[in-house]
Parts: sequence; structure tokens; C-alpha cells
Amino acid sequence: MPSTTLSLPPVPKRPHYDAIIVGARCAGASTALLLARAGLKVLAIDRRPYGSDTLSTHALMRPAVLQLSRWGLLEPLRKAGTPLIEATTFHYGEEEITIPLNAGPDLPGLIAPRRTVLDRILVDAARGAGAEFLHDMAVGDLFADTRGRVRGVEIRGAGRAALRVSGDIVVGADGIGSLVARCCDAQVLRSGTVSAAHVYGYAPVETGAGYHWHFRDGIAGSLIPTNDGLACIVASVPTRMFDQRFRLGHGRARMEVLEALSPALAEQASRAPKDARLQAFRGVPGYIRQAFGPGWALVGDAGFFRDPITSHGISDALRDAAGLAHAVLDGSEAAFAAWQQERDLFANQILDTTDAVAGFDWTLADLGERHRRLSAVMKAEVQALAGQPMPVRRAAYAAGGPIAYRAPANQDEPRATAGSSLHRNRTGVRQ
Ligand SMILES: Cc1cc2nc3c(=O)[nH]c(=O)nc-3n(C[C@H](O)[C@H](O)[C@H](O)COP(=O)(O)OP(=O)(O)OC[C@H]3O[C@@H](n4cnc5c(N)ncnc54)[C@H](O)[C@@H]3O)c2cc1C
Repeated sequence: MPSTTLSLPPVPKRPHYDAIIVGARCAGASTALLLARAGLKVLAIDRRPYGSDTLSTHALMRPAVLQLSRWGLLEPLRKAGTPLIEATTFHYGEEEITIPLNAGPDLPGLIAPRRTVLDRILVDAARGAGAEFLHDMAVGDLFADTRGRVRGVEIRGAGRAALRVSGDIVVGADGIGSLVARCCDAQVLRSGTVSAAHVYGYAPVETGAGYHWHFRDGIAGSLIPTNDGLACIVASVPTRMFDQRFRLGHGRARMEVLEALSPALAEQASRAPKDARLQAFRGVPGYIRQAFGPGWALVGDAGFFRDPITSHGISDALRDAAGLAHAVLDGSEAAFAAWQQERDLFANQILDTTDAVAGFDWTLADLGERHRRLSAVMKAEVQALAGQPMPVRRAAYAAGGPIAYRAPANQDEPRATAGSSLHRNRTGVRQ
């Protein structure tokens, strides 16, 4: 008889970590990388497989490329076949404005890696620094002590009973639907008012192509060169137009938008194989959430979301991962407050400038000015990031503390008892 071997999913190597990160893509893997490089014991968990794809049109802006360069990852990304983008062209109707992008050794140009490449390289680098990753496993709940301070996570994976792992801090890098934000009741500090839909697919593109951003009244589109000799070609419209015009099929409606923007862009898109799949995102209004609380923090889309039309989500995720790493390594509440203050400074400006484009209330005559405002925010971000030291572990942390909100000894030992879960007994733990 053939023998069948049941392989159980892996389990965490330790019962306790300095940091547990829920979500292991650009925000989570970056946070893991920086904390592990600083010597912390880090566990990152993602319910999706290692190296899997996700919704994204890949375009990195200057702050993200600068961070990746400073972390030593630009070269691995280039070696993985990610083309360097040396110019970006804005098409306002018939008007074209091309901007060269080379801004020095740390910013030789821009890149737009597929997420199967970017997220994998971040995970590999974090693993190389000692972080532990569990893929294909979901965090189903958090648990807290009697004072309401988050103490760890409950992991659920195929074929195993739920498993509790404790950590000094639990980081929610778990995207728009963040479980960590929900469990911790993270307050929404600001809500955006507009949303746009984006429908995209891939088509062959010539070597050396730049970014192209197209706009005409009420519609937008882009061509973003990525890996494998392909460009991601996107049609973007207000969500209400998506609901009306894309209902009967994404393919035809996307082509109509691309055609209206530029026949050349539509022709480029038509080079895709006939059976190529399209991806669609209907749109979600932006938000900024409280970024931290006792024993928890949010990074990436979990804490701040802005419409993809300005291609700034990954830049935000990497910037906030670095800021959070500094706060975790410092461990004081003041450091977390300073991190959130800086995050909010940029997040508010990015949300303002993004909604100014995603709202589609512009005319071609005033859109250039809106893009220049966004560009000025990115310039300030690049300056802030370039002056930021790499996160390092403090001597006090190396000796076993302090860490965020660490309460006096013996007063808040983790209590992994039924009823201490934030889900099951929120009022009990949040007093
Ligand atoms: C259509 C579209 C196009 C975009 N284009 C661009 C672009 O061109 N440039 C750009 O910079 N940004 C772009 N963005 C934004 C960018 O994709 C996000 O900002 C970025 O992915 C946020 O990264 P993250 O790590 O915070 O979250 P995510 O990438 O959403 O990752 C969260 C991870 O958490 C995991 N997870 C969630 N819950 C759990 C759980 N309970 N247990 C375990 N794991 C969990 C998920 O499996 C997921 O892998 C785009 C977004 C969309 C929707």
C-alpha cells in the first residue's frame, strides 16, 4: 500500500518574541527586517504563501526606492530583472511633460517590481537577519493581560489547534482589513471622502520605457514597466463610474478608457495575450488610524490607506516600518508618540494630495499643480529619510527592557486564560 505522510505546518520556534508581526508583505517584512537587523527576536506570520502575488500596480516612488537602496535591496531587486525607470511622463490630454529621474547614487531611477519579487526579497533579507516567518498561517485573535495590554497572538493553521505565542509588541501589518486594528479598537483619526477604481493587466513593453501617467477629464491611466519585459497597464476611474460602466465586463470597459486616454496606450495594452487576466480594485476611501497603543502598533495599510492613484502605498509602508522600528527599539511611549506624529505629518499631506487626484474633480489645467504639491511632499519625505539613522538596539533593550508600556514587574504577567482575548472580552481588557 502506498504510504501517505501528513506534513503538519511549522510552529514558532519560541514561546515568546520581542516582536510579533501580523502580515509579511512590504510593511510587515520591512519591519521584521529592521528589527531583526537590530538584534530583536522577531516572528512574522502571513496567511498567504511565501512569494505570492497581491493587488498592486507596482510603481515605487522616490521614498521607497531610497529606503530599499539604504537597506541594500536595490541590487537584489535589479538582479531579479526589475528594470530601472529613468523618466516619467505626465500626459495631460495632448500635453506631455517628461521628467528625468536620476537623482544620485542612492536614487539612480525608479523601479516597479512585481510583488512576487519585492515582498519575497524583503522576506529573504529579514530571514537572513534572523527573523522567523510563518506563511500559510493566519492570526485569528490577539490576547491581552488583565490591564488590557496586548500580549500576543493566537495562530491558526491547517491541521493544528490554535496556538498562542506571546510578544513584547504585536505589530499589525495586515493590510486594509486589519484584524489587529479591529481587535485593538484602533481609532480612525481621519477618513477620506473619495475613492477610485483601478483595472489593470500586463502587456509586453520595449526595454527602457519610462512611467507614463495619462489624464483626461474624469479618467486616468498608466503604463508601469515591471519585471519579465512586461508593463502593468492601468485604467483608473471614479468608483461610481466603475459601478456603471465596468459592470458588464472589465476587459471592454478598460479598453474604452485606455482608448479615450491615448490610442497608443490602448495599442500597447492590446499586445497582451488574448487570455491574459485582468485585476480590478473597486476602491476604498482613505483613512488614517491611531498607530499604536499598549502592546500594539499598526504599520502599512493597516494604519494608513490612500487611493492607489498616486502610487504611494509602498513608500508609506517602508517609511512607517522604519519609523516604527526606531520606536520599538527605543521602547518609550514618547518614542511611539514621536513616530506617530511624524507618520501623521506625512500621512495627512499624502492623503490630501492623493484625494485631490483620486476625486477626479480637477481640470487638466489645474491637475499639474496638484501633482506638484504631491511631488513637494515626496521631496520632504526623501529629505527626512535620507537624514534618518538606521534603527539600532539600545543598550537598555539589550539588557531586557524597556519596551513600550512595560508595566512594573509582576503587575501584568501574560494570562493566557480563556476570556483574556480582546475579541471575547474587550471591555474586560480595555479598562
Ligand atoms: C489596485 C492597487 C494598486 C496599487 N498600486 C500601488 C503602486 O503602484 N505603488 C504603491 O506604492 N502602492 C500601490 N498600492 C498600494 C500598496 O499595494 C499597499 O499600500 C501595500 O500593499 C501595503 O502593504 P502592507 O504590507 O501594509 O499590506 P498588504 O500588502 O495588504 O499585506 C498585508 C498582508 O497581511 C496578511 N494578513 C492579513 N490578515 C492576516 C491575518 N489575520 N493573519 C495573517 N496574515 C494576515 C495578508 O495575507 C497580506 O499578505 C496599490 C494598491 C492597490 C489596491
